[in-house]
Amino acid sequence: MPAARMQGFQSTVRLLVLPALALLLAAALRGASDNVTGAQLAQSIRDAGLDQEECYRVRDLSYYKEDIKLYFHDGYLIFSKPVRGERLSVVFTADVEGGDGEIILFPPFKGERQSMARFTQSPNLDEHFNAALLVFSDDTARQLYEQITQEGVGKKALEMGPLLRDQWDSVVKNVTENFDLRLVIDLLNPNRESARSREGLLFGAIAGKTLGNFDFVDDPRQEQQILAGQMKDRSNGEPQYDIWTHFSARSIRTGSGKPLEEGFKVRHYRIEASILGMSGDVSGSQGLKLRGVTEATIRLGKNSLRVFPFEVSRAIQVKSVEVDGKPAELLFRETSRGKALRPDQNEAFVVVVSEALAAASDHVLKFQHEGSVISFAGKGVYFVEARSNWYPQSGFNFADYDLTFHYPHALTLVAPGDLKEEEPGSQSDNSESKISRYVTPVPIRVAGFNLGQYEKVSGNDPGFRVDVYGNRNLEYALVPKPRETLQLPNSIGLRPGRNTAASAASVTTLPVVPDPLGRLREVASDVSACFQYFTSLFGPPAMNSLTVAPVPGSFGQGFPGLVYLSTIAYIEPTERPAFARSLQNQVFFSDLIEAHEVAHQWWGNVVVSAGNQDEWIMEGLANYSAMMWLEKKKGAKVLEQLLQQYRDDLLTKDQTGHPIEAAGPITWGYRLEASDSASAWRVITYEKGAWIYHMIRKRLGDERFLKMLAELRHRYEFKVVTTEGFRALVKEYVPPKVSKNSVDLFFDNWVYSTGVPSLKLSYAVKPAAKQWKVSGTIEQSAVDNDFTAEVPVEIQFAKGPSQIVWVETSDEPATFSATIQDLPVKVALGTGTTVLAAKK
Ligand SMILES: [Zn+2]
Repeated sequence: MPAARMQGFQSTVRLLVLPALALLLAAALRGASDNVTGAQLAQSIRDAGLDQEECYRVRDLSYYKEDIKLYFHDGYLIFSKPVRGERLSVVFTADVEGGDGEIILFPPFKGERQSMARFTQSPNLDEHFNAALLVFSDDTARQLYEQITQEGVGKKALEMGPLLRDQWDSVVKNVTENFDLRLVIDLLNPNRESARSREGLLFGAIAGKTLGNFDFVDDPRQEQQILAGQMKDRSNGEPQYDIWTHFSARSIRTGSGKPLEEGFKVRHYRIEASILGMSGDVSGSQGLKLRGVTEATIRLGKNSLRVFPFEVSRAIQVKSVEVDGKPAELLFRETSRGKALRPDQNEAFVVVVSEALAAASDHVLKFQHEGSVISFAGKGVYFVEARSNWYPQSGFNFADYDLTFHYPHALTLVAPGDLKEEEPGSQSDNSESKISRYVTPVPIRVAGFNLGQYEKVSGNDPGFRVDVYGNRNLEYALVPKPRETLQLPNSIGLRPGRNTAASAASVTTLPVVPDPLGRLREVASDVSACFQYFTSLFGPPAMNSLTVAPVPGSFGQGFPGLVYLSTIAYIEPTERPAFARSLQNQVFFSDLIEAHEVAHQWWGNVVVSAGNQDEWIMEGLANYSAMMWLEKKKGAKVLEQLLQQYRDDLLTKDQTGHPIEAAGPITWGYRLEASDSASAWRVITYEKGAWIYHMIRKRLGDERFLKMLAELRHRYEFKVVTTEGFRALVKEYVPPKVSKNSVDLFFDNWVYSTGVPSLKLSYAVKPAAKQWKVSGTIEQSAVDNDFTAEVPVEIQFAKGPSQIVWVETSDEPATFSATIQDLPVKVALGTGTTVLAAKK
């Protein structure tokens, strides 16, 4: 499942606002009472500009919020004009003799300090700056004013007002418009006064003296509130947002504040969707359009609200919204319309009602929307691009779904849940005359659908319905190109400079065309079997029914009750495209991908990661579950080979000469994508993730490990789990003789930090009375001084089971000794597939 990605604060293409229109709106606003519309308010936020009357010379003005410390040592401060009585931005400039500003931000965790150091060459942010622009909806303005009015800190500098306004107005405008929706949400909060300091945003754009332009944010509405980062141009010319650090605010960490609860939750979706051939012809070569009516039943939390944030695919146009049958306002971000219409990316928008809805009340929001979100991939083969965002959503909370699709007779459409109604439609009709209605028996987090010209094979396991669909036709991308080969007459041979083609016979060979249904039965029986196996290990899945259907491409995605499986998995290994033919990729497409996506029925759909930094818990576990299935099917050796392959991948050096594993801790999530090695995110999330689970399994033992996973599913059913919650759970399952502290060390080293040690064992065996004594040391290298790992030393005998001694490594050689009855035949580090380490 893709996590919501951090959006950078890049300035984007802006629509020109006609001056006349702006004037009209301004006039409308002057007379506006509290029934101001969202659009009017957004416009006045964008138009506010700096207030030349509110310019101050400041000295030794400091401002702290959560982990952010700002010092305006010497310079000018100019506020923006008020909007609805509130000033929403301020500019500081150090453009005076000896002028200076400073920001201090200390990340509270080692992994975050590593991240900061990677980007800024220092584990802590302490940067002097020439200028700063703050945009806020919190108490910042009020607090700054309080200080300015104190003796000696600030004094009015009216002579500088017009100058600074002219210099900064357009910058303020450009930056502020990135926050217009957010500011509208905050300003139209019916409980604005009491919510301001707790819910308000603080954003800062800083012109650093050594680090250049960068940003910081404190946003109480985010899972992790504090962020610092920088927009950078990559070598390929594409801008990328580098996240320097991202963590929970001090008040949340210390427990003095609580994370914000969502203002409302969608409890029920009823969606009526029509799939339309773009030219009315599904046998054509075009994508399909989706036109839908989504009714979202929401329940408000303990506060009343006027503004309701939603998201939808950028390729979907939301045409209108009604709230409880009455038209309401739709407001989109002004700046985002120039962006490419990537259907997999989301567009944020808000619904604004003219009168606040009461706390704890239920309401129905009815959206009309349409867009081209299904692309054509071959005859009867479609690619649903907007798999998770084809209907308006707010947050990914669990909701019930009632889905009705109208679509052309020639297609099969699948969706999660129970098929309640079906109309076959008319064969003679290319229009959307076929109807299917699906209802989910339990709440789910997101509903997908898939469609095509399919064959179907069903599993026959009692209590479960497993349907696996495959495309009847091959997508065009997988049709091999005819190869032209030259056959040279024997007598000629190749000589430099000679045109051999003329005298050679050209032969065109037609490669085997892959059968898109070649492995349909195999996939179906494997999916059924591993669905059963996981149920026996983890408990009930998200739903008792599972539909698997193909998706063009080399990936899979596991939605509740619905798996999208790469079309390559349906093709016999010998017929797969070249890139899929390496041994590792064959295992991936034949064995791992389907089990991984099936495992997501539990990991990601029953239990959900709390945030981006916790995504590894579900991805690593989906992967490791698939590996356990492989182990059961093909034996422990295959699992070990895979782990060794993963270790080699993690130790592979990237272009900077560092091992891929060193790109960052697994908890950085998508931030790993910004690293220099392109594969870092994938390798660390999936492969190190699997290793983390494997090491936990080895330390807990199989029985406790499986009990722990069953408890994970049970305790967090339809809930979110954090890395800390998971650490606490593991602690409960360590064997009696293992200290709980070792779990903390394990997480600190393997989860929150980086490092794969090289380990060297030295030992001696000596007779001791009638017994034997093994003593030795383990030396660790290639990791930081504070790295420690628990490593098993395996003492093997000619007969009977080996004896294991766990040794905790450190930067000093770690000693161990054991008294044994028999002379051992071998003493070895059990690192092969017990601990992630390099051989030495
Ligand atoms: Zn996955």
